[in-house]
Amino acid sequence: MGFDTDAIHAGEKPDLTGHPSGDVVVPIHLSSTFARRDVDSPTGGFEYSRSGNPTRFALEQKLAAIENARYGLAFSSGLAAETTICLSLLKDGDHVVAFDDLYGGTRRLFTKVFQERFGIEFSFVDARDPENVKEEIRNNTRLVWLESPTNPLVRLCDIEEIAGIAHDASAMVVVDNTFASPYFQQPIRFGADVVVHSTTKYINGHSDSVGGAVVTSDDILYRKLRFHQNAAGAILSPFDSFLVARGIKTLALRMERHEKNAFAIAQFLSGHEKVAAVHYPGLASHPQYALAQRQMTGFSGMLSFELKGRKTHVKKFLRNLHLFALAESLGGVESLIEHPATMTHASVPHAERKKVGVNDSLVRVSVGIENAEDLIADLDQAFGAL
Ligand SMILES: *Cc1c(COP(=O)(O)O)cnc(C)c1O
Repeated sequence: MGFDTDAIHAGEKPDLTGHPSGDVVVPIHLSSTFARRDVDSPTGGFEYSRSGNPTRFALEQKLAAIENARYGLAFSSGLAAETTICLSLLKDGDHVVAFDDLYGGTRRLFTKVFQERFGIEFSFVDARDPENVKEEIRNNTRLVWLESPTNPLVRLCDIEEIAGIAHDASAMVVVDNTFASPYFQQPIRFGADVVVHSTTKYINGHSDSVGGAVVTSDDILYRKLRFHQNAAGAILSPFDSFLVARGIKTLALRMERHEKNAFAIAQFLSGHEKVAAVHYPGLASHPQYALAQRQMTGFSGMLSFELKGRKTHVKKFLRNLHLFALAESLGGVESLIEHPATMTHASVPHAERKKVGVNDSLVRVSVGIENAEDLIADLDQAFGAL
């Protein structure tokens, strides 16, 4: 089936057997527990809502379908999903190679929790060059953790080539696919073993639910992940499961518009006298434009740019905007803008930020699905008032 068909139908076959209400939309099953006829097995397939819930299960089937994978799991946040992956696949003494330009919270989880408290080692490398990943692989490397495009510099890495390197060393590959969304990129096609999402972003898409997803096609891995999800308990609630499933139904439409608007804004910014640099993989000037065309079917709605001038300049510019809310997060229908150095990436030490290239004049934009001309006019007046 096509992506848009799966997004609407997967997990949501109207049930005309059993209790034939004929719901076209899977209801919100709030029950925490499920009755059975006999002691031996759960009659409807469900026992207790942490272990499995019909609304969450419907969403999990949808999540798998839109990544073209076999299994999906829904979590209470993107970081809960990441934590469960680490709990399932790593132990004391293991080593992980990770892209150095990661979501700030992911880096904090790795260094402050799993490294400091649980004896797992992390090496952060510039994965734009797969050789850098290869050089860091050790005997105890169990995992290669990638994000593409990255946050906030919108850098890419070659998933297929890196998956080859990791698999040669018997390491698994996790790709955080939050920025591209499954509509524009399906990492499992390129050899990723596990895909993780913050569904808080594009997948739910309306900035009204915090959640996470893990997707895989590997049976053994799925069983491990499911075991640890149930054991640690970071599941998505029935109401949020309903919201995320509803969001997915319009993902294709939304992503098309996010991309169209982002492209228009990237072009506007590229020609602007007050802008020093624009980072957007859909621009032919992006150093990894060729890779973006090969690995993604579109360039998504995230971009960042560097303003000329000092930090006070940036602050003034952000204050001048009317349509772009100054807020963390991304991927919702409304446009958001933020300053990574003081907001999303404040938890990354200054020296690390500088090394990666997240400087004080960098601004990140999550381009919404409003009218592009209105968005550009707002940016234009904010520049004008500087
Ligand atoms: C937001 C985000 C996360 C964390 O997800 P939460 O839902 O906030 O826990 C992880 N990775 C990326 C790329 C993100 O943007």
